[in-house]
Amino acid sequence: MAANPKSAAPLDLERIRRDFPILSRQIRGKPLVYLDNGASAQRPSAVIEAEREYYERHHANVHRGVHTLSQEATDLFEGAREKVRGFLNAASTKEIVFVRGTTEAINLVAQAWGRPRLGKGDEIVITWLEHHANIVPWQQVCEQTGAGLKVVPIDRRGVVDFDAYLGMLGPKTRMVAIAHVSNALGTVLPVEKFVAAAREHGIATLVDGAQAVPHQRVDVRSLGCDFYAFSGHKLYGPTGIGVLYGREEVLDEMPPWQGGGDMILTVSFERTTYNHLPYKFEAGTPNIAGAVALGTAIDYVEGVGLDRIAAYEAGLLDYATERLSAVPGLTIVGTAPEKASLVSFVIDGVHPHDLGTILDAEGVAIRTGHHCAMPVMDFFEVPATARASFAFYNTRAEIDALVTALGRAREMLG
Ligand code: PMP
Repeated sequence: MAANPKSAAPLDLERIRRDFPILSRQIRGKPLVYLDNGASAQRPSAVIEAEREYYERHHANVHRGVHTLSQEATDLFEGAREKVRGFLNAASTKEIVFVRGTTEAINLVAQAWGRPRLGKGDEIVITWLEHHANIVPWQQVCEQTGAGLKVVPIDRRGVVDFDAYLGMLGPKTRMVAIAHVSNALGTVLPVEKFVAAAREHGIATLVDGAQAVPHQRVDVRSLGCDFYAFSGHKLYGPTGIGVLYGREEVLDEMPPWQGGGDMILTVSFERTTYNHLPYKFEAGTPNIAGAVALGTAIDYVEGVGLDRIAAYEAGLLDYATERLSAVPGLTIVGTAPEKASLVSFVIDGVHPHDLGTILDAEGVAIRTGHHCAMPVMDFFEVPATARASFAFYNTRAEIDALVTALGRAREMLG
């Protein structure tokens, strides 16, 4: 991914790796080589400590009590929201909705933005490389409203066909929902271009940033999208917490999705009035500790520096691509010129699941399967791929360990 070379000083890998306690684990008697960061990254001690400290010293419910603990919890929770706002460069904390993760964020938009507004003949445009989380919620709202789904094709490299996309935008298109980075192929989409074209037609836009925020700086205002979604657990934060960014004017016009406590101003049996943004979309007690620790994860990532992370990971990707390409019988699936730091691959005559099991015996954790992107597997006519996805704490030595383990797997299975 593109990085600013001025701020791309080398990372202190030894120190960084010490910050992540799990990286010193042994798996089956071998040092852990964790290359499944695309599925979920690991947490630094600071994040684990932030959750612990929150529970040990500050926990109470938020936005409710006048007592000290409730105020402390509220301040920490809202402080985390401000960190997310800064991280995405959103204009206001009103635009930052805490959710369970990317999946919930997209479902919220499909149901609260899409359902009341879509009708028969309306169209939602997605791409062929989407994660199921950015396909199924749209299919569901299509079933509910009579709208239809249009899918922009990809080529054999895994690049989305921009001209075909432009050809699909028309008076019936209501929403463009696209990944920023493909989890199955690593393709980085030029989302600025996609969003700008949609905006020219007055079409709403959602960007699934689950695989982008850990690897590059994201500025929602310069992107110009209406919605941006990501998950905490891929950004070195806790599971069960994520973010929906929505432009204030757009969120304002939407009805709430779920009803319950905290999302209301007044309730009577005759009439309920809804809370202000962003609370209108946060029914019930939220994952307070998760949000607080997500704020700490953002501090940690900012401390390392996203430009330095991007530059370091670009080097890892080049090295992994070169070493894996030299493995006999191995084919890389996803060869877009702009890629995030992950490599999907298949090996002749070896099922990815068998590969994953043998690699695990060597301490190497990779993901094998359809990566919740079955249409991508269909397109490349493979049942599954193996995927090594890198974080800034991974090393070239770990890529060497992966290649050695693959050699062993080929001897056993090939
Ligand atoms: N979109 C993409 C591109 C993803 O990679 C993922 C997670 N694999 C998701 C959405 C869903 O994220 P979550 O499971 O955290 O909701």
